[in-house]
Amino acid sequence: MAALDLDALRKSRGVDLTVWPPRYDPAYRPAAGAEHWLPEVECADPRDRDALILAKLRRQVAWAWERSPFYRRTWEAAGVSPATLRSLDDLPRFPVVQKSELRAAQAAHPPFGDYLCVEPGQIARIHGTSGTTGRPTVFGVGRDDWARVGEAHARILWGAGLRPDDRLLICSFFSLYLGSWGALAGGERLGATVFPFGAGVPGQTLMAVQWARELRPTAFYGTPSYALHFAETARREGIDPKRLGFRTLFFSGEPGAGIPATKRQIEETFSGACLDMGSMAEMTPWMTNGECRRRSGMHLWQDLVYTQVCDPATWAPVPPGAEGTPVYTHLERTSQPMIRLVSGDRARWTDAPCPCGRTYPRLPDGLYGRIDDMLVVRGENVYPSAIEDVLRAVEGFGGEFRVIVSRREAMDELLVRAEYAGSHAAPEAQARLRAAMAERLRARLGVRPVVELVPEGTLERSEFKARRVIDDRDLYRKRVGEATA
Ligand SMILES: [Zn+2]
Repeated sequence: MAALDLDALRKSRGVDLTVWPPRYDPAYRPAAGAEHWLPEVECADPRDRDALILAKLRRQVAWAWERSPFYRRTWEAAGVSPATLRSLDDLPRFPVVQKSELRAAQAAHPPFGDYLCVEPGQIARIHGTSGTTGRPTVFGVGRDDWARVGEAHARILWGAGLRPDDRLLICSFFSLYLGSWGALAGGERLGATVFPFGAGVPGQTLMAVQWARELRPTAFYGTPSYALHFAETARREGIDPKRLGFRTLFFSGEPGAGIPATKRQIEETFSGACLDMGSMAEMTPWMTNGECRRRSGMHLWQDLVYTQVCDPATWAPVPPGAEGTPVYTHLERTSQPMIRLVSGDRARWTDAPCPCGRTYPRLPDGLYGRIDDMLVVRGENVYPSAIEDVLRAVEGFGGEFRVIVSRREAMDELLVRAEYAGSHAAPEAQARLRAAMAERLRARLGVRPVVELVPEGTLERSEFKARRVIDDRDLYRKRVGEATA
């Protein structure tokens, strides 16, 4: 290995990267004043770190090749094998994996699919998707894998500024959903006090606010829309969210924390740092897309999960600065390793330096959409995240909105239904607000929307991932089709 001194790392930090999967000392923790958990790796010259990544990748790929009929089959068909990997540039020769293929593999080989690479008895945790949009996916996480998830998340949360004297309030579902459990594992390994409050039970948000006032947590995990809902609930109780004392708020499950206006709003609301995190449940440890304290966009923690932003037509990596979709590869997962899993998210990556000193590439604008959720309205590409960014920057916006695309006489119509704040209830204030929103949206999107205002609190708040887009055009097409048939 080039310049990374793995012997020194073993002695000083208790991490053995000469074996695979790596061994970690569960008692290791940096000094509280240290900025990095594993600076030798995080701040390495990327070329030196790439040698470590390649060594891990070869072991990871060989592991899957030897144990998984799923990978053996697809790789043989593509004419690749572990021997193909002579450098990291060879990885794009491996076929990508789509989520639909995982579902098919689980349907054919229930429950875990033929990409499970450990004995079922070695699985420590079963998680899954809700299955609201099709067959649920089952995640089996091995016992040793789960310990490594805690290691990875502790390291990334350290970069987010969490320290052992923090008290972390987790306000998301404790169910099959992996987000909450991943935050819990990281917080525990880091040595913080964890407060797994949960979410989703009627009245629970009010209880969370009351508990927060009593127990003074300093860190918050949930979804961005839930944090804003939490703040509204606090205000209704006469509590200024700023006074709750949150120093760090980190998020996954929605793009909000990476949307500049939402990030600013959360930071102003709570007077704490808002950090964006999260890749995919399949990719757990999912924090390997994770912002550092400097909040310059999510770092890609490449020696834990190796990520390439790829062209969705060719699946080849795009150059730094360009847009594509992240394709993820596990580097230390034995149970259900993902090798080149397509995210379907949209992102731009950069290798420009970050003031934190970490040399990982970054997604400076986060994950700002889906390859398939981009709306094409009158020929313009419209991202729901761009609409959110515009609205949250308008004074008088009441906090929630919906986007409805429909077709009237073969013409697309973009309707933005937005709440107005109580301060803008007068008819003339509403008229000015409606005009300001329509004008700023037109400037950003290239399409003039119809803006409809409703009072603050009218639109349902989500305790989980907000669903804000309704595309009615399929319905219209169907009706037109039926009428002309
Ligand atoms: Zn950084």
